[in-house]
Amino acid sequence: MDDATARKQLEKMLADLDRSIGVLQGDPVAIREHSAADAGSDLTDADRAQAMLTVATAQRRAVIEALKRVDEGTYGRCVDCGKPVPEGRLEARPEAARCVECQGRQERRR
Ligand SMILES: [Zn+2]
Repeated sequence: MDDATARKQLEKMLADLDRSIGVLQGDPVAIREHSAADAGSDLTDADRAQAMLTVATAQRRAVIEALKRVDEGTYGRCVDCGKPVPEGRLEARPEAARCVECQGRQERRR
């Protein structure tokens, strides 16, 4: 995947994530009203929104990092070992920072 395509995809992802984060964070009126009406028993909706927000925020960070790598000309290379990240992986996850091996290592460490 060339840098221009990668950038376009990443920018689109970023816009989508910003929108999701905005909805989750800025205007969860339905969630808030619901919770206020029935405080205590309705934590699940708020919890779910919070969990989605956490995921979206982490992904947004990954996308921004990836855009930075496009700027630096290192996009498509694993941030750990420097080997090229397979094309198929980048197509599935344009924000991927690591090759499959290093990502596996990273996840096992958690
Ligand atoms: Zn690697």
